[in-house]
Amino acid sequence: MRVRVLGSAAGGGFPQWNCGCDNCRGVRAGTLKASPRTQESIAVSADGAAWFLVNASPEIRQQIESFSGLWPHEPRHSPIAGILLTNGDMDHCLGLLSLRESYPLTVYATESVRRGFSEGNVLYRTLERFPGQVTWVALQPGVEQPLLIDGDRPSGLAVTAVATPGKRPLHLEGPGTPPPVPEDNVGLVIRPPGTRGGLAYFAAAAGRTAAVDQVVGAADCVFWDGTFWSSDELIAAGLGTRRAEEMAHWPVGGDGGSLAWLSRAPARRKILIPVNNTNPLLRDDSAQRAAVTAAGVEVAHDGLEFEL
Ligand SMILES: [Zn+2]
Repeated sequence: MRVRVLGSAAGGGFPQWNCGCDNCRGVRAGTLKASPRTQESIAVSADGAAWFLVNASPEIRQQIESFSGLWPHEPRHSPIAGILLTNGDMDHCLGLLSLRESYPLTVYATESVRRGFSEGNVLYRTLERFPGQVTWVALQPGVEQPLLIDGDRPSGLAVTAVATPGKRPLHLEGPGTPPPVPEDNVGLVIRPPGTRGGLAYFAAAAGRTAAVDQVVGAADCVFWDGTFWSSDELIAAGLGTRRAEEMAHWPVGGDGGSLAWLSRAPARRKILIPVNNTNPLLRDDSAQRAAVTAAGVEVAHDGLEFEL
């Protein structure tokens, strides 16, 4: 399986348009040892021809153009055979609306994520301009489901969704919205059908469960939520009032952080994604980056590509 990181930043990207934190100012000025990053998405393929995107970021157009594997081969064509959504956050779904140029899309998502995006959303009509413009495939947590090309051809890959501690997107919180359900936020295991191990992708995780432990412990490669280094990261920077946990992200560092747990996973590669623009892990020469590297864990960057 080929894996390509299209974007590795958390919501807002790095730098973020309205952010003047030390990291964002430094990367703009070129005074920081850090690379700009677009918002989180990866692409996977068994054969290098048909690709599946995990999440559709607001920067999807730029991300497609940044990787020749996703370029059309014919006057109207796309190698993108499907898009898998891990939750309904805008940073994961907004890109779907950018793919509105009358081309059929297949989107794999849980029922609650599908409803949250497509129901009561007048902009979604842009993806309903002809019958079959979007084919939704309902992800059933715990069930291995084939990833198909054009609805019937095997791609050589299958996906298993894993309900993961998280939360509903901000725009679906508050009075009159449906109650949260476990399938609002999932991790994904992607691998050839009927095999073990594979790629485990958990880009938003407030914590772990027995099921999460099991797939992370068996995976060959783990992508794990690297949004925040510390619980009070936004508060300390004067940028917000909520702790990482209140935003459903398990911080990487500190006592009880995810790093100690992740470092024990036997996977060949363990990669933090996404990374928020305030996170000291973005600085190539930070002490936090050195600690992560020493623990055998990588920090995702745009363009990272490897064979699994
Ligand atoms: Zn910033």
